[in-house]
Amino acid sequence: METPEFLCWAIEQQCSLRELLPENQPDKVERHLRAARYAAEARAQNRVQSDLARSADGLLGFSIRDALAMYGGEEAVRETCGPCPANALARLRQPSYAGCFGLLPVPTASQSFYQQFNDLPADLFPRTTIAWYGLWMPSPLTLAQVECLVARFASVTASPEWSDDLSLREFAAALQTCADNQLPLSVQLYPAGQIDGPWWNLVAHCDKCRAPWQSIAGKCGMCGLARCPADGKKRRVRGTRPYRPIEQLTT
Ligand SMILES: [Zn+2]
Repeated sequence: METPEFLCWAIEQQCSLRELLPENQPDKVERHLRAARYAAEARAQNRVQSDLARSADGLLGFSIRDALAMYGGEEAVRETCGPCPANALARLRQPSYAGCFGLLPVPTASQSFYQQFNDLPADLFPRTTIAWYGLWMPSPLTLAQVECLVARFASVTASPEWSDDLSLREFAAALQTCADNQLPLSVQLYPAGQIDGPWWNLVAHCDKCRAPWQSIAGKCGMCGLARCPADGKKRRVRGTRPYRPIEQLTT
């Protein structure tokens, strides 16, 4: 199975749920807070019966009490995330627990999507052949960079082609939240990949700009910085945690 190129983002904000997490590593935030997010999404979509949250297709489930115990329980999560200035997704739905991170897969019509970012001010971001790749080289983004992207993502999400894309709307809400509350936004771009059994293999890519590797005159053809592709690190597939097959859940 193929996986698309995607952006992992997290608003930098210390809180009791994120106490031991390193800064500027959005993938770790996603892994650590995913259970809280899934619980809130299940509640918002009426997929919770007593303590059991079911997936939209009904095949997977998890116990909200068990999954949220590591944060001190659902009440503690509600109290922490409710008033939090980094809870960007509270702009889109309620309840919203851990609305401070997200994943943005690049839409399938990727070329026309990339083109939306070609004319951003050249002095704000590192220069790359396709401007999109330069946007995510700095992390966390500065306030000036965030403010520039707020306007652009607002216009992209308003266009009919992408208005139904929830991940895009979530990222636009994150940008707006960071601009309004002056919070840093950390970002990491992941290249497209392939799932092979338990392994998730990314295509050969540049370590600096994360674009698929294409060498021009001995350097990355996208950013001109790297001289060889990134080391092919072994990655495990993301898995469905905290969701598990319903038949494996004990009551
Ligand atoms: Zn590069």
